[in-house]
Amino acid sequence: MLKLKNVSKYYYQDGVVAKGISNVNLELHLGEFVVITGESGSGKSTLLNVLSGLDSYEDGEMYINGEETSHYTEEDYLKYRRSYVSNIFQNFNLVNSYTVYENIELAFLMNGYNRSEVKKKVNELIEKVGLKKHKNTHTSKLSGGEKQRVAIARALANDTPIIVADEPTGSLDSKASKSILKILHEIAKDKLVIIVTHNKSEVEEYATRIIRMHDGNILENKVKNEINLDHNVQSIKVKDITFISKIRLGFRNAFNIPIKFLLMFGIFLLITITLITNYGSFKLAEYEEIDGYSPVFNNLSDQRIVINKKNKEAFSDDDYNQISKIKGVDYLVKEDLVIDYQTDINNEYTYLYGNLYLKEIDHVDQGSLPNNSNEIVIVCNKDNYYIYESEILNKSFYLNNNELVYVSGILYDDSYNLYNMSFYLKEEFREKIYLDILKSYSSIKYSFDNTTFNEFDIAVSNQVNKGEVYISDDIFDQEKINKDLKIEVSNIYDDNSLNLKVKGLYNDSNIKKLLNTSYIDSYLIYISYEDYVKLMGNNNYQSSVFVKDIKDLDYVCDNLNKLGINTLKMRDVKSNDAELVNNIVKIFKLIVTICLVLTLFFISYFIMRIIYKARNSYYTTLRTLGSTKNVCINILMNELITLATFTYTLFIIFIILIKNNLINNEYLSNITKYVNVFDYIVVYLILILISILMSLRYGIKIFKESIIKTYKEKI
Ligand code: ADP
Ligand code: MG
Repeated sequence: MLKLKNVSKYYYQDGVVAKGISNVNLELHLGEFVVITGESGSGKSTLLNVLSGLDSYEDGEMYINGEETSHYTEEDYLKYRRSYVSNIFQNFNLVNSYTVYENIELAFLMNGYNRSEVKKKVNELIEKVGLKKHKNTHTSKLSGGEKQRVAIARALANDTPIIVADEPTGSLDSKASKSILKILHEIAKDKLVIIVTHNKSEVEEYATRIIRMHDGNILENKVKNEINLDHNVQSIKVKDITFISKIRLGFRNAFNIPIKFLLMFGIFLLITITLITNYGSFKLAEYEEIDGYSPVFNNLSDQRIVINKKNKEAFSDDDYNQISKIKGVDYLVKEDLVIDYQTDINNEYTYLYGNLYLKEIDHVDQGSLPNNSNEIVIVCNKDNYYIYESEILNKSFYLNNNELVYVSGILYDDSYNLYNMSFYLKEEFREKIYLDILKSYSSIKYSFDNTTFNEFDIAVSNQVNKGEVYISDDIFDQEKINKDLKIEVSNIYDDNSLNLKVKGLYNDSNIKKLLNTSYIDSYLIYISYEDYVKLMGNNNYQSSVFVKDIKDLDYVCDNLNKLGINTLKMRDVKSNDAELVNNIVKIFKLIVTICLVLTLFFISYFIMRIIYKARNSYYTTLRTLGSTKNVCINILMNELITLATFTYTLFIIFIILIKNNLINNEYLSNITKYVNVFDYIVVYLILILISILMSLRYGIKIFKESIIKTYKEKI
């Protein structure tokens, strides 16, 4: 069934040609038990490797069942090996991290069997070689003789017609050698068994043919027993390993060597953390508060969006309703001008200034919530430099030099620094302040008949009825009483005018009685609140929306635009000046990050390479069991993907625990604040990509070398 005609094999190494075998002629048949002997270096292994298709030859011709093989490709040899030959090696070539059972099962799996269907066969083979009690022992724990039995059992798994063994007893003591040879003889019956040994005496009793080699030539070819069963030679049908088996092996390999598992876990974790933290800090930087200045706006909060309607109309309640319903909106400030207005409160001892507080509050830390519209709450840091409770609580102040107010309570808020503060007012009072602010932004004309005055200022008094006005007798005389004072107001939003009847003149002596105030300023004209509202315009044309989180800004703006509303983000207002610098900094950061990530990848890649160099023996074993390059790559890929997935899953669980405050890690919690599900998926895909690239490179690398070279390298 095997025939060599003038076959020669040379080795080329470093420019030197070494002779392996030369002009060998030989014919071997099924049923023979062939023993090849000879001194070391005589070409025994070379001959065996050529016969078993592990190595190619240069000259002559080898026939397999009469078929020429000189034109054979790597693939043809693989097919030949898989369907005809099983190897037994001097160094066993087992997977030491597998159990006896798993080692034998592996040979079946490589030929497309399912785990379940080979269970019985594997157990039979284990019994046949007498290792029943070691079935679940890792082969690293076995003696040499026991290991070789496993190798024999594995060689029998696929029932190939040819079994070759290169010095199968070379590493064993004489007792173990004996039993191994006995087993080999038992299984020989209808197969072609070829054994290389330099201890002829121990095999002589079994051999049907003895070949003696010397210097690459056959010195002697002695047939003791003529056997030829070639007419019923049968190669086995080979199938490729199943998809499920590849997944299974990948999974098993991922976890079965603890050291390797831990190292790979560490590497994948390192890559994950580097990617996520870099990416996270990028996003964090993007959403950081921008420092900036605006001549128009006072409140430069990053959460703020200033809005007005595209059709220039005032906002209706319906509009406000819709705006409040947009996801991500924290609160809405209808009287937008209030936000940018500096407010102060003062009395003879204290002067404090700040902004109006725009949200509703439901508690205070000192004092009490306001009951009346002239009670206010101060919101500030607990350690504010200027706030002394005793000097402030329940004391009276002038708000904006105008209204008399009482501080009913203090609310502490850590987000304030030690110097600034806000004033919380009840809603109706806030509206009044808004009108005052509007007034300060308006141009106002006062006229009797057609005589115009500009130097007046409006004051509101609840002592004045609607449609009436009080003026000072310093400037006007009695004849103005019951005359109409025309007031025209124009501001950026609105133009309004009213005719108010002069009801009376005030002076030092009657002002207390008429208007219930002792403050005197001859240029003030007193009108009712209703008229004040009418003049200033009680429509809101410009408002502000505050978002909960900066990352929602774009989403909220998009939705506002859809409602026909113009938007202006404070972030954009501020960043204009520094845009160029910011962009340069951003690009620079990006470059640094890419370099960092690439460096990390290369470091990880080299560590992985070192780790997987130690796995050469495993993949060589797979090759000797008939695995193609693709199968090796697939199994390794599955292993790496399993490891990556396992590591990443643990990482994600950790992140989830942090997000739910079950684990406290300020750093990760902060850095992952803006990392979303999509980003996590991208990072996972990067890990998968690394796994795929790694396995491709590794597979290509080990398959560059011939099987026998990688086998020799590993021992
Ligand atoms: P044996 O198995 O009988 O000890 P080998 O078949 O291994 O002999 O070697 C036969 C000859 O081929 C020896 O001279 C050896 O030096 C040479 N040889 C074997 N393998 C290689 C190799 N990979 N590279 C170079 N020379 C080799
Ligand atoms: Mg040898």
